[in-house]
Amino acid sequence: MNKLEERILKNGIVKEPNILKVDSFINHQIDVGLLNDIGKMFKERFDEEITKILTIEASGIAIATVAAQYFNVPVVFAKKVESKNLNKDVYETKVYSFTKDREYTVKVSKDYLNSSDKILVIDDFLANGHAAMGLIDLVNQSGADMVGVGIVIEKGFQEGGKLLRDKGIKVESIAIVDSMESGTIKFRGV
Ligand code: 5GP
Repeated sequence: MNKLEERILKNGIVKEPNILKVDSFINHQIDVGLLNDIGKMFKERFDEEITKILTIEASGIAIATVAAQYFNVPVVFAKKVESKNLNKDVYETKVYSFTKDREYTVKVSKDYLNSSDKILVIDDFLANGHAAMGLIDLVNQSGADMVGVGIVIEKGFQEGGKLLRDKGIKVESIAIVDSMESGTIKFRGV
């Protein structure tokens, strides 16, 4: 069992029916040491050439930023809100939010993604794959290469992981939760 899996068992809270709350170390209060270990693990798993990490605000930013120190690349985060500072030259796509049960538009300025980039997408959770598919859509619009998707916690009982892997996308998840029935968390391969 890796450090993240140990921490999920210790401090993760299962909210019925299928939400895992990790507010005390990832989504609200952040354990930087743990994110550092996760960043190192992403670097070990993605040995390929990467020029940028792409994530989505808000929770993805901290994870991507810590990981980026191991790749020595910038982080670009897709913005969910209408920003007056974002010029009109953007790639945009729609993402359905699993936790908020609504669709929203995410945007990235064309200044920060281009066809010579090799992109690693990073996010906190993979559930049905909407957030990841939205980010991949932005990468495809820019003409950049999609190197892979790095996920902190994949919920293996939802369809996102299969959806991405069936498309031939390399997906590496630091913890894969295969079930959370009756509040008991079971990890894949542990
Ligand atoms: P997906 O788009 O793959 O359906 O869901 C992924 C997004 O929804 C993540 O960016 C994450 O913010 C949120 N999410 C999905 N499932 C969970 C969960 O069990 N716990 C938490 N904290 N966030 C989740």
